[in-house]
Amino acid sequence: MIVVMSTNASTQDISEVIARIRSMGYDVHLSEGKERTIIGVIGRGRPIDREQLGLMSGVQNVMPVSHPYKIASREFHPDDTLIPLNGIKVGSPDLAIIAGPCAVENRTQIIEMAHAVREAGATALRGGAFKPRTSPYSFQGLGEEGLRYLAEAREETGLPVVTEVMDPQLVPMFCDYADVFQIGARNMQNYALLHAVGESQFPVLLKRGMSSTIEELLMAAEYILSHGNMRVMLCERGIRTFETFTRNTFDINAIPVLKQASHLPVIADPSHAVGKWEYVESISLAAIAAGADGLILEVHADPEHAESDGRQSLKPERFAALVEKIRRLAPAVGRQVETPVLAR
Ligand code: PEP
Ligand code: MN
Repeated sequence: MIVVMSTNASTQDISEVIARIRSMGYDVHLSEGKERTIIGVIGRGRPIDREQLGLMSGVQNVMPVSHPYKIASREFHPDDTLIPLNGIKVGSPDLAIIAGPCAVENRTQIIEMAHAVREAGATALRGGAFKPRTSPYSFQGLGEEGLRYLAEAREETGLPVVTEVMDPQLVPMFCDYADVFQIGARNMQNYALLHAVGESQFPVLLKRGMSSTIEELLMAAEYILSHGNMRVMLCERGIRTFETFTRNTFDINAIPVLKQASHLPVIADPSHAVGKWEYVESISLAAIAAGADGLILEVHADPEHAESDGRQSLKPERFAALVEKIRRLAPAVGRQVETPVLAR
């Protein structure tokens, strides 16, 4: 249930409504929008008399939230959530472009890639140090050494680091190196992990599980939000279908659906969705046209010899050409790509 306060409700009105809701055994989540404050009634308490609550001073409306996700819903938070990232706000007309290799392979590679993607206009650097691989015999990532190289790359280029965390116990260690926690598709429903990143105040890039519905993605986001972290970016990275020509099937529907259902920014990952670099450009442009707030893209200087996901990785020059196309497309859909300041 949500309580919509009127535009002229006083702080005293708001505190009294909150106290009443708490006295019934519920938790409260406050959404202070540009226009009005919305109070979310969360958890299990005693039955609430909606009519009586509606008579309290400053209350405009008391509405049941029809979805199982509450804090993630647009009803609860009508304004877009904006997440600061390297001088832009993800969720605003500025598009976020997160780029870099699938995995950190060595120090030189990640530092060179960081410079390359930054010069092309990237907002943030991606790179996995702990890799969730289907086979235990595949490259598992450099671990903490990889995180150190990422932090060095950030130091050299100023690009914030987006990197995957797989173990809730490692969240405190990641805080020393990362700027955005990536939750991978395979861990979208790892509730201990969602709890741990929900207790941090770091932005989270939450990837849709490969066989998860849109509602399950929103419920996973709800776990993070309900632990107090409102900085969640939802990521569509393709889902499993009967089609095998591409690695996954990019669910373009998910973009407008998520934008309507939720206030959280939506990032598209065309690389994992298609699995072949030659389709990455088309799907990137389609995602932006459909309303995505940004992209996460895999870029590698020598894809044939990449430790992981070389087949879907763009070479740096192709990535730069794609950013130029996005720059030209963006104004047609009310967006823009902020030109990076290359002073460092
Ligand atoms: C990745 O980003 O390299 C990755 C493993 O992605 P996903 O979790 O979407 O498969
Ligand atoms: Mn990858």
